[in-house]
Amino acid sequence: MKLSLVVPCYNEAGNVRPLFDKVNEEFENKISDYEFIFVNDGSKDETMSELERISSSTDIPVTIVNFSRNFGKEAAIFAGLKEVSGDMITLIDADLQQDPAYVVKMVEYLDENPEYDCVAAYQEERHEGAFIRFCKRRFYHLINKMSDTEFVDGASDFRTFRANMKNAILEMSEYHRFSKGIFSWVGFNTYYMPYDADARLSGASKWSFWELCKYAIDGIVAFTTVPLKISTYTGFFTALAALIYIIVVIIEKLAFGIAVPGYATIVVLILFLGGLQLLALGINGEYLSKTYIQSKHRPIYITKEVKSNAKKDA
Ligand code: UDP
Ligand code: MG
Repeated sequence: MKLSLVVPCYNEAGNVRPLFDKVNEEFENKISDYEFIFVNDGSKDETMSELERISSSTDIPVTIVNFSRNFGKEAAIFAGLKEVSGDMITLIDADLQQDPAYVVKMVEYLDENPEYDCVAAYQEERHEGAFIRFCKRRFYHLINKMSDTEFVDGASDFRTFRANMKNAILEMSEYHRFSKGIFSWVGFNTYYMPYDADARLSGASKWSFWELCKYAIDGIVAFTTVPLKISTYTGFFTALAALIYIIVVIIEKLAFGIAVPGYATIVVLILFLGGLQLLALGINGEYLSKTYIQSKHRPIYITKEVKSNAKKDA
């Protein structure tokens, strides 16, 4: 059994060597046949030269996919998966938040349980602020309500799966890659293994609250069209409410001679309806923009070079 580790790296100069060493240390006497696929996602620091140093200093097969610019983690994972040659594949971050000791456990689990195709690590306990935790929980609740694809709260990209699942993932060549959804969408039996994420070894995470919001919207747009229907329903019910109100106003005027108090009601209604219309337009726009980009069929990433320390056969 050969294991391929896919590691997306964006400004991880201080982390790639410690990760490489930690993996080798954990794998010793447990996993012997493995390779690294590092994807340098347009890092602006010394990540690439660090990777080259690692590659030239070891007998362990190391492949480096060097992007022409930053394309994002999802693109990096996709590119990495294209290069793997193992029977099992592990996706692991470069920042050592995910302890390589779990990889050994994942591989053992798959070895012992042939009916499973994937072991995904999930965080039972999140070490985040209460507000972010609340937002994430709401997000999972919402997207699971709207989408047929199952999204598991706390499940991460940190996972190990068999080559058949990798092939299925590679067949999904969509431009906007929301990997949490893609992993569920392709199916296969997944075992969720609890793990505790560590703190980043060095550097900063790229996730701000705003980034998380955009990510959530991308996920919803990628895996459900329910928001498009919401505007239809909202329009229908608003029109119905207006109709009822018209009847009430007419009856009030004819039967009781009550003059309709005007100004405030009109302002509130205009603002309310204007808001609803803009919201509906915005939702449409989200889907349209994704369709527009996808219709250009641009590549998901561009590689500058692929380097490997493996000896080429003749
Ligand atoms: N990453 C990447 N491209 C990006 C952003 C991140 O390849 O544009 C990599 C990053 O180097 C790390 C992994 O994706 O190995 C997770 O990123 P990060 O630690 O910022 O995310 P978090 O752990 O906070 O979810
Ligand atoms: Mg991280």
